[in-house]
Amino acid sequence: MSSGTSAQGPRLRPTLDGIPTYKPGKPAGADAYKLSSNENPNDPLPGVLEAAIAAAGSFNRYPDMGVSELTAELAARFGVPAEHIATGTGSVGVAQSLVLATAGPGDEVIFAWRSFEAYPIITQVAGATPVPVPITAGGDHDLDAMLAAITPNTRLIFVCNPNNPTGNVIHRAELERFIDAVPADVLVVVDEAYIEFIRDPEVPNGIDLYRDRPNVCVLRTFSKAYGLAGLRVGFAIAHEPVANALRKTAVPFGVSQLAQDAAVASLRSEQALLERVEALVGERDRVVAGLRAQGWEIPDSQANFVWLWLGDRSADFAVACAEAGVIVRPFPEGVRVSIGETEGRPAPRSAPGRSRAARGGTPGSWTRRRCG
Ligand SMILES: *Cc1c(COP(=O)(O)O)cnc(C)c1O
Repeated sequence: MSSGTSAQGPRLRPTLDGIPTYKPGKPAGADAYKLSSNENPNDPLPGVLEAAIAAAGSFNRYPDMGVSELTAELAARFGVPAEHIATGTGSVGVAQSLVLATAGPGDEVIFAWRSFEAYPIITQVAGATPVPVPITAGGDHDLDAMLAAITPNTRLIFVCNPNNPTGNVIHRAELERFIDAVPADVLVVVDEAYIEFIRDPEVPNGIDLYRDRPNVCVLRTFSKAYGLAGLRVGFAIAHEPVANALRKTAVPFGVSQLAQDAAVASLRSEQALLERVEALVGERDRVVAGLRAQGWEIPDSQANFVWLWLGDRSADFAVACAEAGVIVRPFPEGVRVSIGETEGRPAPRSAPGRSRAARGGTPGSWTRRRCG
């Protein structure tokens, strides 16, 4: 061993020891339904698939670093300046860039908990301190407690609307009151990964909140309603200082040309996509009604998943589901179940390609178990 080499190997940042590794949804076997990652169960739309295939023909080249076509399309779609849009490798990638742009050692990042698993991880990767604020017994953000958690060290606050994994939403008046009580030098990130599934008219569109508030950033993704989870593309809408900072902290060339072109094609096929979202919303409402009829107490989900407060029975429940061919996502507090295909009624197969799970498996008898 040469001198200067530590017997323990390279020195890694101690902060990494406290970081849980992101747990992806379990892949489904050939005969199981994967309801663990909130994916869109539909195969890609034909036009979107064609755009991606066409882009694949030139992957010897780097993608358009400025993501110009997609940015222009988004700017027109949302009526915002192109300079206010910053893209990234999924909205998790953008969220990480946001933390890197605002917080480092000694700084604090506030978020509700339980909420999206990535928040504490990306906070600690940046060396900043996560400040989780417990959600209420009903699964809502406790906005007053989040305000009370603000200190001079607070740099960023994530608000997940609707909340993953409970599905609860924050209404316009409460969210505006909250944001307006946050100091102007603290960035509020409204994560709207599931906004297309919201049918509650009292839920605000974050874009309306950001327009005259320089400390508000909206986070969106193509992974859920738009069905491009595997291509990794998401974006932020924020005022120029924040959007510019995101362009500095993002991984260069992070969004592939496949992802860029598929996202553009998705926006241009929006009508067909949103019809599919409508079908998923209908299925969600059917599932919620069915579960409630069985005696389950579940929050009123405005996303593409439902939440079962199973507490310490969560892990056993997930195992029982897996045995019945349904892969769900257990957490310590409960279990999240994505809305997928309707049993016996496959999701529309619009394109050749492999389906994510065999259709027509029998989810079995797990729904018979009651939750108090
Ligand atoms: C799924 C999800 C995302 C998006 O992930 P991508 O990186 O865009 O695939 C962001 N926020 C929340 C709350 C999510 O559930």
